[in-house]
Amino acid sequence: MPLAVVTSAHDFRRACQEARVDGELALVPTMGYLHAGHQSLIRAGAQRAPTVAVTIFVNPAQFGPSEDLSRYPRDLQGDLRKCEEAGATFVFAPGSPVEMYPPEFQTRVEPGPLAQPMEGEKRPGHFRGVCTIVAKLFALSRAEAAFFGEKDFQQLRVLQQMALDLNLGTEVIGRPIVREPDGLAMSSRNAYLSRVVRLSAPARSKALQAARTAVGAGEIDPARLGALARDVIEEDDVKVDYAEVRDAVTLETPGCAISTSRLFLAAFLGKTRLIDNGALGE
Ligand code: AMP
Repeated sequence: MPLAVVTSAHDFRRACQEARVDGELALVPTMGYLHAGHQSLIRAGAQRAPTVAVTIFVNPAQFGPSEDLSRYPRDLQGDLRKCEEAGATFVFAPGSPVEMYPPEFQTRVEPGPLAQPMEGEKRPGHFRGVCTIVAKLFALSRAEAAFFGEKDFQQLRVLQQMALDLNLGTEVIGRPIVREPDGLAMSSRNAYLSRVVRLSAPARSKALQAARTAVGAGEIDPARLGALARDVIEEDDVKVDYAEVRDAVTLETPGCAISTSRLFLAAFLGKTRLIDNGALGE
């Protein structure tokens, strides 16, 4: 039987309600153009619950005016194959943004301090858009668990806090970053990279390695570790947007780079902006 696809919010709510007769429901929200990283979330969902609902929606509310909304890559047929292969039960792919944002729409979810540094500072309004759409997906699905990648670690923390603060009843579960063999974190936006630019793409995972090695050798100063990562990335002619050591829970700058810290990186490869992060301790 081919994978069921629903395109309206009404049908999505009903499909989730019906599926919950079989037990828990796991939700995997995505913007599509799926890869093995997304599939790892679907597989984790299938381990947790008999029903896994995947959503595919390029959410206009989380893109800034000068960002890549109109050219964001899309391939619904390919995505459906990948969902099925990874064990999804059904897919919600809204037919148009109006399905999620009808003309009378006016309420938004405003996250707190976790959403302020890094992506929040560089992409004003981004996390408001993310929180609003994810709150809507949680409300429609009433999923017991939702799976998100550590690739977007700040997003994961912001959403965990939102679910807690608003008593949404959905457990927000993070899963490890899936990488290409050369270390590049998988991303739908990697499709933008030209062959030449792609060669310097692993710079960020090299920077993570260098920072870990420095921590192993006794370096504990967050500013020096950030600067080291920046230097490693810039060696490869990649423009750094930020390179910061932050606490994995509070996302604040720690007094020293202890084992609970992560290095967060954003860099431009040509015109494409990619992010990465990783733990500094083991
Ligand atoms: P996106 O379609 O980019 O909005 O991503 C949907 C979900 O997939 C988010 O929770 C991302 O963090 C997660 N994700 C994206 N890339 C990866 C990756 N390389 N490994 C694991 N999860 C990922």
